[in-house]
Amino acid sequence: MAESSDPAQQFPSLPKRIHGLARLSYNVWWSWHREARELFPALDQQAWRESDHNPLRMLALVPQQTLDNAARDPEFLERFDAVMAEFDANIASQTGWFTTEYGAPQDPLAYFSAEYAFHHSLPLYAGGLGVLAGDYIKECSDLAIPMVAVGLIYSRGYLSQKIRDDGWQEDDEKTLDRTYDPVKLVLNGNNEPLRVQVPFFEPPVHVLVWRADIGRVPVYLLDTEVETNQPWDRAIAHRLYTNDPEQRLRQEIVLGIGGMCVLKALGIHPAAVHINEGHPAFAFLERARGLVESGTPFEAAVAKIRETSVFTTHTPLSAGTDVFPFPLFEKYFSSHYDKFGTDRNGLLQLGTNPANPDAGFNMTVFALRMSNFCNAVSKKHGEVAREMWKGVWPEKKLEDVPITAITNGVHLLTWMDPQWLQPLFAKYVSPGWIRDQDQLKMWEAVDNIPDEELWGSHSLLKILLIDEINERAREEWQKKRVRAESVIAFGALLDPEILTIGFARRFTSYKRPDLILHDLDRLKLILTNPLQPVQIIFAGKAHPSDIAGAQLIQRVFQLARDPNFAARIAFVENYDQHLAARMVRGVDMWLNNPLPPLEASGTSGMKAGANGVPSISILDGWWLEGYNGTNGWAFGGDATEGDRTAADAEALYRLLEEKIIPLYYLRPDDEIPHEYVRVMKAAIKSVAPQFSSRRMLKEYVRQFYVKALGVKKS
Ligand SMILES: *Cc1c(COP(=O)(O)O)cnc(C)c1O
Repeated sequence: MAESSDPAQQFPSLPKRIHGLARLSYNVWWSWHREARELFPALDQQAWRESDHNPLRMLALVPQQTLDNAARDPEFLERFDAVMAEFDANIASQTGWFTTEYGAPQDPLAYFSAEYAFHHSLPLYAGGLGVLAGDYIKECSDLAIPMVAVGLIYSRGYLSQKIRDDGWQEDDEKTLDRTYDPVKLVLNGNNEPLRVQVPFFEPPVHVLVWRADIGRVPVYLLDTEVETNQPWDRAIAHRLYTNDPEQRLRQEIVLGIGGMCVLKALGIHPAAVHINEGHPAFAFLERARGLVESGTPFEAAVAKIRETSVFTTHTPLSAGTDVFPFPLFEKYFSSHYDKFGTDRNGLLQLGTNPANPDAGFNMTVFALRMSNFCNAVSKKHGEVAREMWKGVWPEKKLEDVPITAITNGVHLLTWMDPQWLQPLFAKYVSPGWIRDQDQLKMWEAVDNIPDEELWGSHSLLKILLIDEINERAREEWQKKRVRAESVIAFGALLDPEILTIGFARRFTSYKRPDLILHDLDRLKLILTNPLQPVQIIFAGKAHPSDIAGAQLIQRVFQLARDPNFAARIAFVENYDQHLAARMVRGVDMWLNNPLPPLEASGTSGMKAGANGVPSISILDGWWLEGYNGTNGWAFGGDATEGDRTAADAEALYRLLEEKIIPLYYLRPDDEIPHEYVRVMKAAIKSVAPQFSSRRMLKEYVRQFYVKALGVKKS
């Protein structure tokens, strides 16, 4: 199968000597390899910034003279050659941890997800689920796990957030740019765009296929924006998680069933299929249909599929589960039951939740029934999920419900600061720290980093964060003439000398972004204490249909504008992967206070901890496993439902007042808060190895993939 756009044609001005830059730009690999990432700003700092860190767009912006100079600059060429040699060697070799352990299987695994966050130049995600999927695929590449990935390309999916002067969130649609985003149209044998028909639609729906390369893993993205499709069909993949239930069902048919058809058209026959959350679960249906077509009876086909199907559930919220009313489901499937070798009941039964049999076709229940390998994303979430879905296995005792737990992790090379922290690890922890990043023992050597060096790096990262926020606030002023109070609310007066709390995640009720605002008088005393002041940086989007979430943003923003809080609260617009990276490195502590047990795992606190930013968090999700008494702080707990919020807020205030603030401001003669640095080091030592995507992927391999692929340790 060919790919479109010969880079030589696309970048006619790129001198031959550095033509590899085009190849490098098309593979997001550059984003998690320091020397590769630094190549672009080294070429042209201004174009790099103007392109919003998108190498392809940048190459179009760089003046010809600059390119010609670079092609003759021995220093640049030396760096360029080193990067290209590493890149080409890595991409060309299919070997790594997985193949050393298990050999190379004939067919790959296929991973399906409705969203992916690889880099902010490729806007295909809404939030944490996408970030997890993006980190997952990068780690598969690093470990040489034989994987192909499938998703959708959302032409108008990504919302960028604007806050009005009155604090209300407005959503700007950011449209995908098929020219400069790092995706290539997949061509067929005749060098024409590959078009694949998705079954079950009348009139037929076709998809085009785009390919993104994430290191060694190809990601195939289905596009319904095809001229021959009807307008409503073209819109199937316009937006992530559309609210219209029928369009959502159609989206999931395209993702799951269309996705399997695309793999087939590409000649890829996955040995096992892993679906990330329930949205792509129809992939299992299509796999079963394929077996039935070649003569296997329906029940046997389902049994067979299960042996090579993996399903990860991510949410303890029922709103996170798609349930399609039966009549809607039947609208698409009723004339096709025979294709599955079964009847209406045979098919509908698979998606029926015994706990709520009339609700409709439940994608999570269906996925659970179709997979022998099911997991939740933290130990606590495992317990919650077994309780939630035990009805699917009425004959089993609760503890035997076959949903295990594999706790999430984050891709360290993506999230750990490459500029100052990673070099410290190389110097003081181990020169081979990247290879051994999931080894708990190795990280003990974090103690070898001199306090002043770790604190010095942290202080630089904090200044970098606050500078960027100041810059954004000034832009608001210049471009939109927002009111002065809003400029302050956007963070124009943040101070790098002050203890800084970060709170950034989706704004939604169960995450309780307003918990710390519970007693405003007390909060004001904490923030404006003249000797030991505190500031809070908030960021996060609300889902467009979550009015309560938007109201929470408004409440925070209005306080941020309130002179009583004297610029000690900021709300930064448009939380995305870039801002997240800056924040988890640059604040002093990371606050998380969901209503237990609704946080399945949470990953932003892992990113922070790996950068030496300790969590101050409710014991829920990953923190129940992560907190060890020395690496951050836990609060909240016993209160009964009614006064839970008051009790949690009280516990938070007390912890800050009595413990954390005094610790932070305890500065001996050398001005370095050694006690606080000790907590920072404990955070890195415990969080980096245990909550790395490397540890996570190895668990998936050992618990699931080895069995699903039928491979053995070699
Ligand atoms: C990490 C991340 C998330 C998920 O954070 P949680 O702590 O799981 O809520 C969401 N959005 C972005 C942009 C992230 O980087």
